[in-house]
Amino acid sequence: MQRIYNFSAGPAILPEEVLKEAQENLFSLPGVGMSVLEISHRSKVYDAIHLQAKQDMSELMGITDDYSLLFLQGGASLQFSMVPLNLMPPANKADYIVTGSWSKKAVKEAKRVGTVNIAGTTESETFNRIPKQEELKLDPEAAYVHFTSNNTIYGTEWYNEPEVGNVPLVCDASSDFMHKKTDLKKYALVYAGAQKNLGPAGVTVVIIRKDLLARSQDSLHTMLNYKTHVENDSLYNTINVFGVYIIGLVAKWLKKNGGLDAMYAMNKEKAAILYKCIDESGGYYKGHALPDSRSLMNVTFRLPSEELEKKLIAEATKAGFDGLKGHRSVGGLRASIYNAFPKKGVEELVSFMKDFQSKNG
Ligand SMILES: *Cc1c(COP(=O)(O)O)cnc(C)c1O
Repeated sequence: MQRIYNFSAGPAILPEEVLKEAQENLFSLPGVGMSVLEISHRSKVYDAIHLQAKQDMSELMGITDDYSLLFLQGGASLQFSMVPLNLMPPANKADYIVTGSWSKKAVKEAKRVGTVNIAGTTESETFNRIPKQEELKLDPEAAYVHFTSNNTIYGTEWYNEPEVGNVPLVCDASSDFMHKKTDLKKYALVYAGAQKNLGPAGVTVVIIRKDLLARSQDSLHTMLNYKTHVENDSLYNTINVFGVYIIGLVAKWLKKNGGLDAMYAMNKEKAAILYKCIDESGGYYKGHALPDSRSLMNVTFRLPSEELEKKLIAEATKAGFDGLKGHRSVGGLRASIYNAFPKKGVEELVSFMKDFQSKNG
């Protein structure tokens, strides 16, 4: 069984070890005699899977008792609504820093709940960079500040959190979740769709500081209220059992591979290899993100013409590199190199790109 290199932005590559373990145990979980796809979310077997995944993630990320870790559904997109519904009242105004298409979608939903102040945006520069701290116009009375830590489509990333004083900081970390160890204390709420850097589609991780739950009003719909999910340990309704199982295997894999500091070092190394190729191509490959905002997860770049871009993608696909086509809103190419993406695949892509340039330069 030959595997190719999957550069897709999401759903994305998973560690081979995880896939193999899942495959081996899919027919029957050891000692259980049933597939993980068949067990009840109220069973002892699942309880153990759920608890272990939470424990391993908490250990990796340093999640303390003043936070709750949730596994929800509805994607990161549902969090665009749940965040304002739960956290905006009573101030009914929030700051949003807009750094790409996902931030804009978050704004769209927040506007249905209250007043949105765009505290910073780089839209006029085609989102090719992260705004500087001094450019932000923050409201000290905002209910929270929302930002997108990694912009999957444009390929930009915050290296440091915006400084927001005492206003709770909320982050959509979908595409760089657990790519390094972050200081959780700076955050009031972090959410991430699992399908980029953590697991399969169908689970959204939410980490919420418990004191914020006081804001969630009882008038909210039960499923849209964070309190419901905290009080029921994410098991109010049928959880995505298989998704959490895979996330648990990924967390185990992360621990085995040195944790998030080791992952971060490797992520920096991998991204550097690719950006170096872009920078040393004499302008043949042109990065979309400015160097001080470059994402370690999604590397976006263009070629001298759309024709060449199409040609490269076609030849790359034949050579076993999949998912390199950029998002339709930016065009060009995008190489997503999440935690599970092997360094060898990045090196092979770079030699392919050099070869392509020498033949088509
Ligand atoms: C993919 C993505 C989303 C949307 O995630 P869904 O789980 O499909 O709703 C939101 N934000 C960011 C930053 C993303 O990369």
